[in-house]
Amino acid sequence: QKHANNGIPLAVLEHTKVEDQKVQLSYLDLLCCVRSLSSSLKVLLDAKAQKLPRHVAFFVNPGAAYVVTELSIWAAGGVSVPLSIHSPVPELEYFVKDSESCLCLADSAGASKMRTVAEKLDRFFAEIKANESPVSFCLFAEGANDVKAPKAELSCFSCCCGLFAKPAVDSNALILYTSGTTGQPKGVVHTFRSLTSQMVSLSQAWKWSSSDRTLHVLPLHHIHGVQNILNTALYNGAAVEFCGFDSAFCLKRLTSGLITCFHAVPTVYVKFTQYLDSLPPDEKAALCLGLRKPNLRYMVSGSAALPVPTMKSWAEISGHVLLERYGMTEIGMALSNKIDGTRFPGCVGWPLPQVQVKQDQDGGILVKGGPVFKEYYKRKEATAKEFTSDGFFRTGDNAQKGGSPEELQKLQDDAREVEAASGRPLKGTKQEPDRALGTIFRILGRTSVDIIKSGGYKISGLEIESVLLQHEKIRECAVVGKPDETWGEKVTAVCVLESGTSLDIKELRDWGKERMASYKVPQELDIVTELPRNQMGKLEKKKILERFKQSA
Ligand code: ATP
Ligand code: MG
Repeated sequence: QKHANNGIPLAVLEHTKVEDQKVQLSYLDLLCCVRSLSSSLKVLLDAKAQKLPRHVAFFVNPGAAYVVTELSIWAAGGVSVPLSIHSPVPELEYFVKDSESCLCLADSAGASKMRTVAEKLDRFFAEIKANESPVSFCLFAEGANDVKAPKAELSCFSCCCGLFAKPAVDSNALILYTSGTTGQPKGVVHTFRSLTSQMVSLSQAWKWSSSDRTLHVLPLHHIHGVQNILNTALYNGAAVEFCGFDSAFCLKRLTSGLITCFHAVPTVYVKFTQYLDSLPPDEKAALCLGLRKPNLRYMVSGSAALPVPTMKSWAEISGHVLLERYGMTEIGMALSNKIDGTRFPGCVGWPLPQVQVKQDQDGGILVKGGPVFKEYYKRKEATAKEFTSDGFFRTGDNAQKGGSPEELQKLQDDAREVEAASGRPLKGTKQEPDRALGTIFRILGRTSVDIIKSGGYKISGLEIESVLLQHEKIRECAVVGKPDETWGEKVTAVCVLESGTSLDIKELRDWGKERMASYKVPQELDIVTELPRNQMGKLEKKKILERFKQSA
């Protein structure tokens, strides 16, 4: 099953909504596709990258074409700048301009937007055209039809299963833009060395091998999708199945018995749960059983805090205790629960291989090591500002390490409860010794939007959200600090309620006082129909705070 053809391992499988297995590439096919596309790209780059660097912005749907484009840019000696396929023209314009990309590429779906951007900024545009049989990808550029090179010089990323020659490891490889949760997105520059370090770290920690086959549902302009899943799979010679996010289809693949690991954001698990709950009992039962097939080794949650109730309900429904990890565009992944140990709800575990993690006096997380980025593109000062004199990067997130004996006992109890809910304790699960629990990290949130300063206390919005989500009437919530003269900031819960229910602040406070310290109980309640979220499903608290400022 693992082999595409002639016993050569499968690299990429692409599904579309209308057609299962639309494109299938073995590692040999992938190499051939890259060899031919990169040769044309090299000609273009040699011709066009004169005043501008060899940066190539591309706007390609997740799937085979994306993989071939990314690797071909590297093979042609370029720097990959993957853009969000959902970005409107003005956003694309910002990314192309900011990254100083000399070349703009797009698949047929993105061609018209990308052409507009390229024309506006006077950059060269070429479309990536796919041929179906045999699968190949070529460049089509108006007025420059002859972009085929006689012979490709492959000096590309060695990581692609050893298929490529050794790259100059310290050269720039990838510019990824941050999600823009706290400000204007910043271009984060990674070298082949930092990317490789991230892949080595995750391969060790999560035990990747060439027998893995992962289902990919995340965007590819973001560290989680491109590094943790796609590139780490290629690095291990594993297989990647792409499909757009659709609960029914994803669950069909996840229960196929072929998928071995899955990485997603908390919202994906909420959507799966809602979908499963909406099914007739026998259909739901069949899928829940399918998720328990032993091949599916682990399911990861990251990119945003995983609320404990979400973790627990997913354990009940799927039998999987989610593996939560913490990371960011700048540092790759830094902290993770253990693949073969107890996974602690509300915690992100311990430092991953290749990274050192420490805290400043305010609890801010600092990270150093191979996976850390080189710089913010063209932002020397901003880069310098974020590094300490001993070379640690300031993440801007706060954490609590360890806890009081009572807190640690509660962690053990919560972990056991979630494991019991899953109905199948992890194979070989070890009870963490108290010593290890004393160094476990729990994310309290971003200093800028999640940490609420109220009446002299520093309160974690994430922690309160996790409690509020246990309320039967609350479907989603964001807890933020609303500017207030008396308190500095008022703990304010912005909630989406379950349909047909109502809730007022008194009822919420009475309920909350039983479950958290009084200074954490929300002082205000705002009921809304929808919370602002970005493409990764991350809450955009900045937008909520701006609304408060406007109405003040
Ligand atoms: P910007 O830097 O532009 O404001 P961003 O920080 O959201 O955007 P990313 O690099 O995509 O951009 O996201 C990293 C952030 O996501 C982390 O700094 C952290 O706040 C959050 N995050 C990631 N994993 C977790 C987790 N497991 N729990 C809580 N927060 C997490
Ligand atoms: Mg950030």
